Amino acid sequence: MRIFSSFTTIVLFLVSLLCVAQGQVKWELLKHEGRDYVSMENVKQFYRFQSMKREGNRITMTARNLVFQLKVGDQEIQFNGVKFICTYPVIETSGKLAISRIDLTKLVDPVLRPSYIARAGQFRTVVLDPGHGGKDAGAVNQYGTEKAYNLRVATELRRLLMQRGFKVVMTRTSDVYLTLQERVDLANALKEPAIFISIHFNAGSRSARGVETFTLSPQGVAHYGKGLKSSDFQLLNGNQHDSANIALATAVHGQVIRCLGKANTFDRGIKRARYSVLTGVKHPAILLEGGFMSHGYEARLIANPQYIAAVARGVCDAVVLYQKAVNGRRANSASSRVPHQ
Ligand SMILES: [Zn+2]
Repeated sequence: MRIFSSFTTIVLFLVSLLCVAQGQVKWELLKHEGRDYVSMENVKQFYRFQSMKREGNRITMTARNLVFQLKVGDQEIQFNGVKFICTYPVIETSGKLAISRIDLTKLVDPVLRPSYIARAGQFRTVVLDPGHGGKDAGAVNQYGTEKAYNLRVATELRRLLMQRGFKVVMTRTSDVYLTLQERVDLANALKEPAIFISIHFNAGSRSARGVETFTLSPQGVAHYGKGLKSSDFQLLNGNQHDSANIALATAVHGQVIRCLGKANTFDRGIKRARYSVLTGVKHPAILLEGGFMSHGYEARLIANPQYIAAVARGVCDAVVLYQKAVNGRRANSASSRVPHQ
């Protein structure tokens, strides 16, 4: 089995290290189905993309170290090959290509300018939450249980992070059962700034495969795959970190896929959800689904300790990258506004 040849991958995944310059733009808001949109021309000017090309429905914008790809009518966008699922599709209205304002402010901007996220870099503590445990096995296949795989990743990741000087707090270090609220309470009892990473493996239809990373849905954004409900408009604990959440997810998702090697996995994208651990934790938080235990090929890969080690390495690299990115120098902030809600 030839796996984990990540160093031969030329594709850039260091999205979270980008800190693009921004120009002076008079943002023009476009209305579509009652929502605000901004034109891609505005986006191009503000982030100083050098070019914007359109082929059919596909749009490609390039800057010095960045390729931004979108498709009219589609919620999926990519930055340097890393996939994100927007809240609303990219549209064309009165001859203008446009992206929704909520996707600009809650996704595009924090990903492109992580150093603008206030106070995000001041943490030394990482909370690791291996999902399930005890009577709750999570997904199960012929090779093992999700609760055991989650704990293996977390244990290896703790070792790597401690080598890099981080303090690591685990919600569990053995095969014990904890409720979701107990995990949240444990993280929220910490006095110091921290980040929270929940580790899971997936199960689904036999053909479903790949890695996906979830962050809390911003206010007014549905849980992935579900319709918008009135409760989606409540502001939750985790929403204070909307920008940090998506920046952390970008780093983790990109680095895990890089460490696994694009040939060995499938990028399902960064998505929004209202899982309890994401809604309740007061720190920037993400939930990683590291592959499908219900997929024949991925089930065998996940059972291989090299795969577990690669996931742990990816997350550790990501935490280091994320911290560097959010600590980056802010540029002249007076001209740096995107049209927030
Ligand atoms: Zn799980």
